Amino acid sequence: MAAQLIDGKALAQQVRDRLAQESADLLTKKGIVPGLATILVGDDPASHVYVKNKQKACEMAGIYVDDHKLPATTSQADLLALIEKKNADPKIHGILVQLPLPKHIDSKMILEAVSPFKDADGFHPYNFGRLVEGHPVFEACTPKGVIKMIESAGVTIEGKRAVVVGRSNIVGKPLALMLLQRNATVTICHSKTKDLPAVCREADLLLVAIGKAKFVTADMVREGAVVIDVGTNKTPEGKLCGDVDFEPVKQKAGWISPVPGGVGPMTIAMLLENTVESAKRSAGLK
Ligand code: NDP
Repeated sequence: MAAQLIDGKALAQQVRDRLAQESADLLTKKGIVPGLATILVGDDPASHVYVKNKQKACEMAGIYVDDHKLPATTSQADLLALIEKKNADPKIHGILVQLPLPKHIDSKMILEAVSPFKDADGFHPYNFGRLVEGHPVFEACTPKGVIKMIESAGVTIEGKRAVVVGRSNIVGKPLALMLLQRNATVTICHSKTKDLPAVCREADLLLVAIGKAKFVTADMVREGAVVIDVGTNKTPEGKLCGDVDFEPVKQKAGWISPVPGGVGPMTIAMLLENTVESAKRSAGLK
């Protein structure tokens, strides 16, 4: 029997509707409008599209957007000064610095300059450390979205064998930690993993974030497994596709998320959720 679909787009819409209500309540009860500063440096067309989509989603959820588009020639010092200003601005509850930054700017230093208490992307080492400790505050948006997708399917994470393919600091590693926190037994795979198909076949939950089109084939998937595809790749025809070979894997998995319409919309929804949660914390409501 074909897998059931985990519809990230529909789930993201539910989250956004709830956040719109929470923002309205925050305004009524505390006079606070959640605020997200978006900082984009340079002319990368894809980054402009991503930021525009995030801003539109914010506005629909009642989140104030403080938009900063800076030229590619912006100095590191000027960018740091802007971040400091936003760190100190009480109207701002989250700060998003769109990556990639131009080569002359040290991205790590910039991300560490964002206040850990306004780190809506969850990339600051403080928040990563809190996750390692098992006491997360801001959680990285993409893995947080993946967890919500698994939970939305009514699948229990506790006790499951989870295999995370990919170990980046923004997806694979934090996702593995979030699964561990929920009592899954977690294996992290990467490009040096021996016999990856055999490890993947052990997974009740198979989470894939490597950036290689249709890499995970049906023979790598256990019958009935939950398969979440984080990858965003282009086919030779220019169509968006994931890291999972969707159609054949769908025939074997129990649950599967599509690309597009899977993790992508949830990543944006989690950025909004992190911003609203931060605004609530600032109002003493969390
Ligand atoms: P990175 O390039 O930072 O990391 C890729 C990871 O995949 C690495 O750990 C790498 O291993 C591993 N890997 C690469 N090739 C293989 C292989 N053949 N076998 C096993 N492991 C392999 O990518 P990201 O984590 O940033 O992103 C992964 C994908 O997810 C991309 O397609 C990206 O576009 C997408 N993405 C989607 C988001 C969304 O919102 N939908 C958000 C963020 C990312 P090693 O460490 O050994 O090099």
